[in-house]
Amino acid sequence: MVDLHNHSLYSYDSKREMEDIIVEAISKDVGILGISDHLDFNSNDPGNMFYKGEEQLEEFLYLKKKYSNKIKLFLGIESSYEEDYEKKIISSFKKFPFDYRIVSLHFVDGVVISDWIVEIEKDKGSIFEVDYEKYFSQLESIVDFKIFNILGHIDYYKKYSKFQNHQETFKRYKNSYERILKKVVKYGIILEINSSGLRHKCKEQFPSLEILKLYKDLGGKVVSTGSDSHKSGETVFGFDKVKRIVKDFKFEVYKP
Ligand SMILES: [Zn+2]
Ligand SMILES: [Zn+2]
Repeated sequence: MVDLHNHSLYSYDSKREMEDIIVEAISKDVGILGISDHLDFNSNDPGNMFYKGEEQLEEFLYLKKKYSNKIKLFLGIESSYEEDYEKKIISSFKKFPFDYRIVSLHFVDGVVISDWIVEIEKDKGSIFEVDYEKYFSQLESIVDFKIFNILGHIDYYKKYSKFQNHQETFKRYKNSYERILKKVVKYGIILEINSSGLRHKCKEQFPSLEILKLYKDLGGKVVSTGSDSHKSGETVFGFDKVKRIVKDFKFEVYKP
């Protein structure tokens, strides 16, 4: 098993020691483990400028050596992206020797997605009345940034949506998905299968099977697998399902 999406106390929203994640992963027979903490520069974000890369790197290198005969360890990063702080992201990417870089949509219009979704869905009686267009233009601008390996949880809006029938959103925005995924394939970016959705009320991994099928049809061959763990017990959560999906679609799993 390969789990490249785990948060430690170097993320503002996790209290977990890196060693704790590693020990859990070994106990669950994970062969390749990656730590990918948050990198944020949006001043409205509680994680703004929280990341302490030098400290983490030193600790990571010590742990990598300590557990070298038990598991393969990689240090990645999960960066949010907005055009305003593109230069800051690039400078962090140059500063630290990350083995891989995930970029994810956490903001739309400068607003954290959990608030943005609630705002656009309030007073709406069905999913058909909601205009998600800005989500897709933000997503496309991330893909156009290009300087990263993995596109994180592409249909993340499901996590905070009050609606359940997200396949309707897929049908309505299929052209947007198609345009974005064509670029993903063309730029050599890898799509992430993130199992954390299975822990949330949407009860489905990110992305949905419809999106994965489209990715495959457009020439996507490789996926990255991650649990987006923030707490003990969450590493490789739901990976039985993830493994099944990978097998069914005959995807290759990315290894740094
Ligand atoms: Zn994320
Ligand atoms: Zn994450």
